[in-house]
Amino acid sequence: MSNLDTVAAGRVVSMQYTLTLDDGQIVDKTEGEESLDYLHGAGNIVPGLEQALEGQSVGNALKVRVEPDQAYGAHSNEAVQDVDRSAFPEDAQLEVGVTFQAMDQDGNPILGTITAMAGDQVTVDFNHPLAGKPLNFEVKIVAIRAATDEEQSHGHAHGAGGHEH
Ligand code: ZN
Repeated sequence: MSNLDTVAAGRVVSMQYTLTLDDGQIVDKTEGEESLDYLHGAGNIVPGLEQALEGQSVGNALKVRVEPDQAYGAHSNEAVQDVDRSAFPEDAQLEVGVTFQAMDQDGNPILGTITAMAGDQVTVDFNHPLAGKPLNFEVKIVAIRAATDEEQSHGHAHGAGGHEH
């Protein structure tokens, strides 16, 4: 048996964190005593952060910089596409900055953001909003526990701070 005070696969980790981009913009953070619970080793968080947390202990605070290839991937120019206005529903509110859900070639849901409009041509960026961006995490590990069998089979943490269903 390894010590349950360290982060390892099959354990639910509660952490407080702030995610900041290089320009200082805060993308996401836990507030006050609130924490995010995730199942370690299940791909619930970006790979670079999951690797950095492996073996860390309760109470540890760390800063982790994750490059795009260990986060949401590089920004792909091929994922920026010009779409004819007729491809959208007639009543769709089309303007720059609007995000909508579409299907990729495999039928999986994918988010698109309108980045430009000219005449009947709508330019849509299907990259993840954080693609191509290094992520700066400040993390404090507040608790670690063994995952339940149900959590293991679902592949995510349950309860406060985790998945609710
Ligand atoms: Zn579940």
